[in-house]
Formats: sequence, C-alpha cells, structure tokens
Amino acid sequence: MTSGTAVAQNQALQDEFNPYLAMAENFDIAADHLGLDEGVREVLRTPDRELTVSIPVLMDDGSMRVFKGFRVQHNFHRGPCKGGIRFAPDVHLDEVRALAAWMTWKCSAVNVPFGGGKGGVICDPRELSIHELERITRRYTASIMDILGPDRDVPAPDMNTNEQTMAWIMDTYSMHVRKTTTAVVTGKPLSLGGSRGRPEATGRGVMIACREALKKIGMRPEDTSVVVQGAGNVGGIGALLLHREGYKITSLSDMYGSVYNEKGLDMPAVMAWMREHRRLNGFPGAEELTNVSQLELDCDVLIPCATENQITSRNVDNIKAKLVVEGANGPTTAKAGKILDSRGVIVVPDIVANAGGVTVSYFEWVQDRMGYFWTEEIVNTRLEQTMVNTFEEVDAVAKKYGVSLRTAAYILAIDRVATVYRLRGVFA
Ligand code: NAD
Repeated sequence: MTSGTAVAQNQALQDEFNPYLAMAENFDIAADHLGLDEGVREVLRTPDRELTVSIPVLMDDGSMRVFKGFRVQHNFHRGPCKGGIRFAPDVHLDEVRALAAWMTWKCSAVNVPFGGGKGGVICDPRELSIHELERITRRYTASIMDILGPDRDVPAPDMNTNEQTMAWIMDTYSMHVRKTTTAVVTGKPLSLGGSRGRPEATGRGVMIACREALKKIGMRPEDTSVVVQGAGNVGGIGALLLHREGYKITSLSDMYGSVYNEKGLDMPAVMAWMREHRRLNGFPGAEELTNVSQLELDCDVLIPCATENQITSRNVDNIKAKLVVEGANGPTTAKAGKILDSRGVIVVPDIVANAGGVTVSYFEWVQDRMGYFWTEEIVNTRLEQTMVNTFEEVDAVAKKYGVSLRTAAYILAIDRVATVYRLRGVFA
C-alpha cells in the first residue's frame, strides 16, 4: 500500500468515526427526500450556539486542575434546548455537536416541544472523588448558566452523570437566580422535583421500541434472543425490562467485558451482581467474552446501549442480528448503517429507540412547572402511548417514501422543525 493510499484510508476512517459527519450524512439523505432548499438545510444542520468553558477545580490534594467543558445548543425553533451532560475523558466538540443535533431530531420525532442541546466535560470520573465531581459540576454549571434555564436550555443525565449530578446543577443554578428552580434540569432525584418513572424511562422506551419492531416481523418475545451492549442506565434497565417481558437475554456487557449464556441470563441476578461488584466480570453461570466478539454473537436482536461507533465498516459484515435497536446515541456509523439496510437488517434508530428518556424528561419539566406530580402509572402509560405512536408514525413514513426507519425518522423530525422554522421566519 502506498503512503498516499494509507493516508486516504485513514482519513476515510476518521470521517466515518466522526459523529457529526454521520449525523450530517443522515440529515442530507432525509433533506433530499423532503426537497429542502439549501438555505433551510444550512440553518437546520448548523448548531445555533456553541460554548466552550474552562473549569478550574481545587483537587482533594490541594492542587489546581483546569477541565474543559462544552454546551452546544443545536436548535431552538420548537422550544428550549434539551439534552444530557456527559463526563468522559474522550468528549470532544464534534461529538457534543452531533449529540445536540440528534436531540433536536429526537425531540421532534416524539413531538415534545424542545430543541436539541448537549453538554460534556472532559474528565475521567473513575479518577475523581465525589467532592471533586461536585466541584467540577458546580463550576461548569456556573460557567454555562447564562444560557441555561427552564425556558432556555434544560440539561439531563448522560454517560457518567446521574441524579446527584442533576441535583448539584439545580442547586447551583437556583443559588445564582435566588429561587429554587427545579425545572432547570431533568433526571433529578424524586425528592427534588424528579419524575416517577424517569430512571427507567430510556430502558423502558428501548423495550417498547424492540417489541413494536418485532411485532412487524411476527416474532414473539419467548422466541427471541437478545444481546445488549452496555449495562448502565439504558442497557442494564432495558435488559432487565426485556427479561421481564419474556425475552432471552443471552449476553450483556460493560466497559470491562461481556457475560454470555446461550440459555439466557438470569437478569435480576446479573443486576444484583453489578450492584455489588460494580462490574459484570466474574458473574457465575455465564461465560466471559470480549466486547468485540459480543457484538458478533448469533442472536435475533442486538441492542447497543454504550456509546457511539460500535457497529462500523470494520465489523458490520460479522453482525448476525435481524434487528438492531439503538439504545445508545450514534452506535452505528452512517457507512455501516447503509450496509445493514442493504442486507435487510431492520434498525430502529437512536432518535426513536432511546427517546423514552427525553419523553419522560418532558413529563418531569411539565410536572415541575405545574408543581403537581403524577403517579408512576400515569407516567408509564403516557410514555407507552408516545413510543407506540412515534413508532407507527415513523413506520408509516418509511412505507410512504420506501426508506429505512432511520431515514423515515429523520424525514418526520426534520419536516416538523422546518415547518416551525418557516412559520417563525428569520429574526433580524
Ligand atoms: P451509563 O454511563 O449509565 O452506562 C454506560 C454503560 O456502557 C456502562 O455499563 C459502561 O460500562 C458501558 N460501556 C462503555 N463503553 C463500553 C464498551 N465499549 N463496550 C461495552 N460496554 C461499554 O450511560 P447511559 O446513560 O446508559 O447511556 C448510554 C448511551 O445511551 C449513551 O450513548 C447515551 O448518550 C445514550 N442515552 C442515554 C439516555 C439516558 O436517559 N441515560 C437517554 C438517551 C440516550
């Protein structure tokens, strides 16, 4: 191979793994179907606002470190921005941009009155004490708070952040504005204006999306084997709920490795093991696999619930599932997605499959603003209605245009945002 070819191949891989380019590629396919003119495309593809902040933090040992944080607001046309905050060592601006744009399309697909935003802080939570995490969170919040607020931008948890992180953000914001403002974040603890059903909402939505897709191909839960990547809020809870519905979960993974049992994992026992040991390794009654081989297992359904770029041009030919349900954001590269489509693998795209989280976040925001809180049954019933309606709407668009569920979801979502944009016009 010449060095020129190697450079070109390397660039092609870098582009394939850039989540923002993946988002833009899927956006363009849908925009072509909608016949969107170049100007509107440009507006809808481009983030409205990007903020990068330096976060000085006094560490427990007395030293000072400066962390970098981002908040990207992709689009405000349908309402305040909405989207999680992730803490991870490899967070970068293009990733946050992509995640913010996916939030715009997700909120539009499930028809909740939000635009899309996302935030991230470059740090490794495993190396930080709880006090250091609190100081990072509070200073990050103070640095971005001019653009936050219940009517501006409402963060939520994402990778490595949780309801405690949201409580710190809510408190920091409230102290600055001199009043308790619960609706500034969602995914809060129940005792602090959180919603019943929110911790399970994304996993529950994944379970509903999986069920609706399987109905279309005439498969029953008890005959369906499922592999789940990621054992956190989305994957762990999703796998548990699917297990309760009668699906056979043959494998589950976390960042340290995978466990596999051909006959099906005892999910309550797996989750109890996780709570005790903080990792899956060593779970009795299961074989251990590498994370690479887990994705290539023989199964009916593969549910990636960890991070971006897991199904790529490198491994897509080895993926054996008939159905992929994207619990994570951006787990399939645009290139791999096209290959799955050409092989007839059904993919329920992230902006539909994991939209249960933002749906119940919307319910939380509504409840905070009303000061009146719903029962878990009401939350779950309304989530069920939203997920089923969205799946049906996306499926109808897919049939109308003769496209994949991913392109259909983008068509539905982009059309709604473009309609609102045309009605509001350009502010000058
Ligand atoms: P989390 O931090 O709770 O869990 C992530 C899990 O993935 C952990 O078990 C971790 O060990 C595992 N993991 C990380 N890298 C892995 C790898 N390479 N292979 C296997 N496992 C790996 O995060 P989460 O909230 O569950 O989010 C997971 C994904 O779902 C992210 O893409 C996030 O953006 C998306 N998402 C989350 C929500 C939500 O409500 N939490 C909503 C919508 C989308």
